[in-house]
Amino acid sequence: MQEELVKKATQYLANTYTRFPIVVTKGEGCWLWDVNGRRYLDFLAGIAVCNLGHAHQNVVEALTAQAKKLFHVSNLFYMEPQIKAAQMLVEHSFGDKVFFCNSGAEANEAAIKLARRYSWDRHGEGRHEIIAMDNSFHGRTINTLAATGQKKFGVGFEPLTGGFVHVPFNDLAAVESAITERTCAVMLELVQAEGGVYVADKEYVTGLRELTKEKDILLILDEVQTGIGRTGAFFAYEHFGITPDVMSLAKALGNGFPVGAMVATDAVMSAFVPGTHASTFGGNPLASAAVLATLNTLIDDSVIKNCADSGKYLCKGLLALKKRFPFIADVRGLGLIWGVELSIDADATAKEFLEEGVILNCTKGTTLRLVPPLIVKKEEIDIFLDIANRIFERKKG
Ligand SMILES: *Cc1c(COP(=O)(O)O)cnc(C)c1O
Repeated sequence: MQEELVKKATQYLANTYTRFPIVVTKGEGCWLWDVNGRRYLDFLAGIAVCNLGHAHQNVVEALTAQAKKLFHVSNLFYMEPQIKAAQMLVEHSFGDKVFFCNSGAEANEAAIKLARRYSWDRHGEGRHEIIAMDNSFHGRTINTLAATGQKKFGVGFEPLTGGFVHVPFNDLAAVESAITERTCAVMLELVQAEGGVYVADKEYVTGLRELTKEKDILLILDEVQTGIGRTGAFFAYEHFGITPDVMSLAKALGNGFPVGAMVATDAVMSAFVPGTHASTFGGNPLASAAVLATLNTLIDDSVIKNCADSGKYLCKGLLALKKRFPFIADVRGLGLIWGVELSIDADATAKEFLEEGVILNCTKGTTLRLVPPLIVKKEEIDIFLDIANRIFERKKG
């Protein structure tokens, strides 16, 4: 049955992903089941999306209740769940106002548009350039591809949109020398996730904040992957003792329900007025119900504390593995986003994990990325470490 479905998928689906050869039918907590009933330990969580684990009761109940009342009316109306979701985000972040959309790329598009419009309001034309980082990832739309600092994603899609300048990550002097009278914003991920899990240095981030303030340039943080508890703080910027002007969110915001958001300070968000930006679906009642249930659970059930604790435990285990196996070149991360850099074939290694019943993925070609649900327990991390040990032992030969 599984093979037949995979064959059918090849016939009917656009060939945009190299997929794992299993058909997933059910999830619960940190576990997934395929169509044959085989169980897998999920250390990918739908690519850092299902932070509360699969089928979390609070989210299921909130969505079910909302679905019976109202799916969608458009943003030509006020909706209680949307207002409450925005209030919740504001009360737990630096931001004053929220724009809802449907994905990470779209949240970044909104951030890019807002930065340009804000600058245009204050300084007039010509101040539209955004400094972004090498090795970054901001999405797959034409604009966010242009912002992305990895050439391979843009190949064959040229011309990409202009107005982006790239500099090396973690290099404050490079940003400083790239600033011109055309610069309106600096945009970055505090942990370059798709790029192989590289964490920004604290002095770099505080330096960027000072520099951008001094030059009246906006600081945009792409927290699409790092937000909503992933790093052991509600938002990654909390680790760095700074606040940005603009932040994009998506992935874990609805625990799997597709929803994105762009959060900004009052002063900056005031550049958006009716007619400047919009989204038909953005923050519709169903999406907002998912956001509310996700954020409430994250806060009430001390999920972020579990993330920090489990993250430390996982880190310790990974460092022990690194000591034993010389082909583990590096272990990098924060909270529950970890990269294990391998000098052996990481893609093939990820496949071996799947064969042993563990789901994780390979990013940047050489890094195993671990982003389990934030509710992961020590016993589940032990299962993962046991299997990792067994696979690496085999590799050692
Ligand atoms: C996943 C991701 C995006 C793109 O999000 P989509 O929902 O796939 O459009 C953008 N930025 C970062 C940092 C991401 O991890």
